[in-house]
Amino acid sequence: MDVLIVGAGPTGLTLGIDLARRGVEALVVERADGLFPGSRGKGIQPRTQEVFDDLGVRDAIRAAGGPYPERMIWKDGERLGGQPMFDPVEADAGTPYTDPLMVAQWRTQEVLYARLVELGGQVVLGREVTAVEQDAAGVTARCADGTALRARYLVAADGGRSAVRRAVGVGMSGRTVDPAPFLVADVRLRGLDRDHWHTFPKDDGSGVALCPLAGTGDFQLQARLAQDAEPHLTLDGIRELIATYTHLTAKDVTEVRWASDFRPRTGLADRFRVDRVLLAGDAAHVHSPAGGQGLNTGVQDAYNLGWKLGAVLRGGAPGTLLDTYEEERRANAAAMLDLSTAVHRGEVRRGRATMQLGLGYRESSLTDETRTAPPALRAGDRAPDGTVGGVRLFDTFRGPHWTLLGATAPPAAPTLRTLPATPASYAPGVYLIRPDGYIGWAGDTAEGLTQYATRTGAFMTA
Ligand SMILES: Cc1cc2nc3c(=O)[nH]c(=O)nc-3n(C[C@H](O)[C@H](O)[C@H](O)COP(=O)(O)OP(=O)(O)OC[C@H]3O[C@@H](n4cnc5c(N)ncnc54)[C@H](O)[C@@H]3O)c2cc1C
Repeated sequence: MDVLIVGAGPTGLTLGIDLARRGVEALVVERADGLFPGSRGKGIQPRTQEVFDDLGVRDAIRAAGGPYPERMIWKDGERLGGQPMFDPVEADAGTPYTDPLMVAQWRTQEVLYARLVELGGQVVLGREVTAVEQDAAGVTARCADGTALRARYLVAADGGRSAVRRAVGVGMSGRTVDPAPFLVADVRLRGLDRDHWHTFPKDDGSGVALCPLAGTGDFQLQARLAQDAEPHLTLDGIRELIATYTHLTAKDVTEVRWASDFRPRTGLADRFRVDRVLLAGDAAHVHSPAGGQGLNTGVQDAYNLGWKLGAVLRGGAPGTLLDTYEEERRANAAAMLDLSTAVHRGEVRRGRATMQLGLGYRESSLTDETRTAPPALRAGDRAPDGTVGGVRLFDTFRGPHWTLLGATAPPAAPTLRTLPATPASYAPGVYLIRPDGYIGWAGDTAEGLTQYATRTGAFMTA
């Protein structure tokens, strides 16, 4: 097989989808007997919605959730008033999606899983990888059931405690974001409306929040406990917690469907690639859930890696193309850790910064901006939407190919789509858009484009 993906979380499933549509032979193996049952990563940021649009799941994701409700602050059983969760950002021709969506993580995973199966992708549940060995030709993964799997590349998408990361000897360094214990749970209850994210803060900094999960009958409970408090994950423990912090009674909480506790910390893997093993998602970076960045960053790791693996395995691109995965995504993850820590501490508001639309790869070795006086939108930036002669760019980008704007295709470029003009949302010029929706190359004319193709080895391939 070409690629073994360890872990069927959002990262592993997204990568599975991207590889399946590229005709790469991949297998996802998951330790658990089913997909993850909790709501934890419930914010789908606008940039991730664009990725999901490309992968053909945006409509299903929208149907599985809904918009974020307003925050309602309570004190002593009284409503103190509502406030929006995010600073609003206006949509425009280049940026059609600006509202984060709320989708319970288990529902997002169901949608991704269904799409993967639809594309012919393979997932094996109940198979735990315990050891990894690699040689010049491939990787062997040993499983807890005594079986072994062999692939040309292995992607560790096995979460924050990644066994693969340990097996290949990659360290993770980080720091505590908040010394307080946190609890998260999916509960059923009565006595609260489903139009607000209800928050019940105490003066000592502890508090609970109950958020109606769009598309389900559940509320997500998030609690920041007092520093010396013990999290109790049982129905009785959660009933007592809610009764202590809110005007609800213990009996108003009728069911606990899933519960977990954690202490917010950051962690960044020292490397994202060790030869034929690549680390993605929480296996490569962990952080505070504040600001809803984790799942989104994992999806984008997968999206960055998918086309590169496809180009190396199917398109004859050099294996060094995979080095740009660590180069681009590790820098991105480091910035995201700082952002989620700042949101957690109340130093940055949720809004433009957390939507992930401004992220890009200007400094990447894959980026070539050839204009001496480039306009605001330049190589390395996210390629905005727009229309050319009635054709929508995001419709043109959708699929595993590269896209050339503002020029006709060079010869021998079978997987390149072209639009000979540029839309109003771009300055005049020539733009080569990577399969993951970033401007790889930009110029006043197409001169130098073929050299870029030769240098990166990826341009002619899907
Ligand atoms: C309380 C909380 C709230 C959060 N809120 C948000 C939010 O609003 N927005 C957001 O973007 N993110 C949020 N996150 C983070 C988000 O949940 C994670 O970033 C996301 O789940 C990471 O996805 P992943 O696929 O990389 O890893 P995971 O979801 O952890 O998936 C890893 C998978 O690998 C499997 N696995 C592990 N070891 C092995 C093995 N050895 N062999 C085979 N399989 C294995 C696991 O069973 C699991 O299914 C939150 C997290 C928490 C804890």
